[in-house]
Amino acid sequence: MSKQNYIIPIFVPQLGCPHDCVFCNQEEITGIKEQINLKQISERIDDYLATIPRQADRIEVAFYGGSFTGIPQQLQQDLLTVANKRLARGRINGIRLSTRPDYIDSKILDFLKQNNVTAIELGVQSLDNNVLAAAGRGHTREDTLHAVELIKEYNFGLGLQIMPGLPSSSEDSDLATGRGIINLGPEFVRIYPTLVIKNTELARLYQRGVYTPLSLKEAVGSTAKLLNLFRRVNIDVIRIGLQPSESVNQKEILAGPFHPALRQLVESKLLLTKIEEKLKEVSVGDKMRITVHPKDLSNLKGQKNKNFVYLKKEYDINEIRFNLDDTLVRGEVVVDLL
Ligand code: SF4
Repeated sequence: MSKQNYIIPIFVPQLGCPHDCVFCNQEEITGIKEQINLKQISERIDDYLATIPRQADRIEVAFYGGSFTGIPQQLQQDLLTVANKRLARGRINGIRLSTRPDYIDSKILDFLKQNNVTAIELGVQSLDNNVLAAAGRGHTREDTLHAVELIKEYNFGLGLQIMPGLPSSSEDSDLATGRGIINLGPEFVRIYPTLVIKNTELARLYQRGVYTPLSLKEAVGSTAKLLNLFRRVNIDVIRIGLQPSESVNQKEILAGPFHPALRQLVESKLLLTKIEEKLKEVSVGDKMRITVHPKDLSNLKGQKNKNFVYLKKEYDINEIRFNLDDTLVRGEVVVDLL
């Protein structure tokens, strides 16, 4: 039976972040313009909890949005205390937060351990120092390697976030970042293809023609390759792309590969790529049957049957049948020529 894990997201606004990441308009990314109100956060957690079934396997409160360990420590303490009250009552099972690689050191990790934080997500974005510099991140690849080493030493759960398509990146550098991430051994990854948000430095670069974002097709292609890399080594990709309802106001996106169902496009592209790899090895006839896990059926077909239409045209196939087999793992595909 699949696990029922729930995350209660609490978005912590930027609160005077001293950095100038070119892609960031933190207020818009988190959809929050007001200051932190502990009472409201407390109520928000309880409202969420009221909607979560009692038989849930695991519930975590997650502080996202800003660089948690960069906000004043008293405020960190206050926020963690709100979460810890629910932890002590057994209403949640863990606390996670996101931060920057250069906002991690032993003192910070001691503080987080004392406050029962269980997992840390780092906004790595890229492992290429040229890309990090062009993105104005203010930290280096070495900062990430050091932060990851420390987080593992302290035995926190580890998640890493990357952003394909930043200025000065290429598909090669993004895939190199993906391989580097694998070497760091996170439990999970989030992939956020770069979007141009209004009122950011990236928006100005875009308007001056200095930066061109990935097209949707390019973003889907390179994210599918990244997903494949992570899947091969069983690293969970828990998020692909920003979600309109939760973390970005769609009206604030000026350009870039935004799609409300980006993950489905990526999964679908990956299945198509695997089918085409198999078709390279055989001489394709008139009919074919494709078998996938039942939950992959809509990814197999693609939006508006796009994959089947493409395969029929490209390989001159008259009939494509599909078959569902729940003994296959998600993402696995078997092709039979009939
Ligand atoms: S993305 Fe960069 S600028 Fe924005 S809050 Fe995080 S560190 Fe600060």
